[in-house]
Amino acid sequence: MAVTHLECKECKAQYPLEALYVCDRCFGPLEVAYDHSRWKPDVAELRRRIQGGPQNIWRYADFLPLAGGPPGPSGRLASRVGLPAGCTPLIRADRLAAELGLREVWVKNDAANPTHSFKDRVVSVAVTRARELGFETIACASTGNLANSVAAHGAALGMESYVFIPADLEEQKILATGVYGTRLVGVEGSYDDVNRLCTELSAERGWAFVNINLRPYYAEGSKTIAFEIAEQLGWEVPDRCVVPVASGSLFTKIARGFAEWGEVGLLDGRLPKMNGAQADGCSPVASAFAAGHDVCRPVKPHTIAKSLAIGNPADGPYALDLARRTGGSVDSVSDEEIRAGISLLARTTGIFTETAGGVTTAVLAKLAERGDIDPDERVVLVITGEGLKTLDAVRGTFETHTIQPTVEAFEAGVPGAVTV
Ligand SMILES: *Cc1c(COP(=O)(O)O)cnc(C)c1O
Ligand SMILES: [Zn+2]
Repeated sequence: MAVTHLECKECKAQYPLEALYVCDRCFGPLEVAYDHSRWKPDVAELRRRIQGGPQNIWRYADFLPLAGGPPGPSGRLASRVGLPAGCTPLIRADRLAAELGLREVWVKNDAANPTHSFKDRVVSVAVTRARELGFETIACASTGNLANSVAAHGAALGMESYVFIPADLEEQKILATGVYGTRLVGVEGSYDDVNRLCTELSAERGWAFVNINLRPYYAEGSKTIAFEIAEQLGWEVPDRCVVPVASGSLFTKIARGFAEWGEVGLLDGRLPKMNGAQADGCSPVASAFAAGHDVCRPVKPHTIAKSLAIGNPADGPYALDLARRTGGSVDSVSDEEIRAGISLLARTTGIFTETAGGVTTAVLAKLAERGDIDPDERVVLVITGEGLKTLDAVRGTFETHTIQPTVEAFEAGVPGAVTV
């Protein structure tokens, strides 16, 4: 088993693998540390081991923070983790690439998870670790997709769950959460208010708040997107990844995944250029990037991309450093551009994404237009959520031709319907 301890990202102080998330000494965030040295000699064996694993994120269990070690066959695993996530499609998107003047664009479609967003990866890992640590109740502070995933995992595992959301969330996300029988709490306030409340509650209750006291384990789940992309590209690192940024956890952990596989020799050790994507209405990281700052100034969000509406991003400084270090950037786009991004992806790939995916697609378009992307680069666009959850974003963007049920009405009422 490779996982060894928790470590402060700032002062490197070490902690045991418990429900801890902040350093006592410097208040820095804690992260899971591993010792992969025993794998180094035999890359071929490690690849076989991964390829022989289950068709979900647990094929990467050697790189995940579970005390139980690598899992057995997928049947036994299902009862252990409830809702297996991952192994989502990586699709080559030639028509999208052509429209943007690029040569090679791939779409990682993480809407194809059990509750239709990448959050199933992080929740699977956090909840599995929570069970190992003996917790009986799971909880979260959510911008929407985390709510869906925590409620569903609670239902799958028969654990009690509490889900805290801003009360003004999209109705589709509220309905797709409550249906699982969770205790759903709508807080009058922004996500940052919800998060503050949950941080207080996590100190008082013996609950596993997946993105607060279990955050070091939760964050590890995002590495599995990088592992899958590399495996799906034939054990290669793409040249560039375009990734949405809310707290910055997904963005930084994708790079961490490529780096870890570089360290054990599964990949060549390069990092892709990392491009972060935010909405203009909540762009603390993009603004700091543009201004050349190392830290983010908190903002009050106002955007249709509610799943990215974190005004005070925990991993902001690390996201800035990563974007600069890899020759990437963090950019933001307007609500209009977000809607256009959703349409662009839908009509060129057949993938309908939520507003966060509109942000990511629009930032890719912006980078292409600006000439930041070499036409020969292999680019991966990380699509993190499903369009059916944010239907308001596409309302009024197209026309329905309503007609009487006759051929004449069809030919009179629908453009292009008359054949010559
Ligand atoms: C949560 C979320 C993200 C990014 O979250 P981070 O906090 O930056 O890890 C991106 N897209 C969607 C759809 C999300 O729900
Ligand atoms: Zn510290």
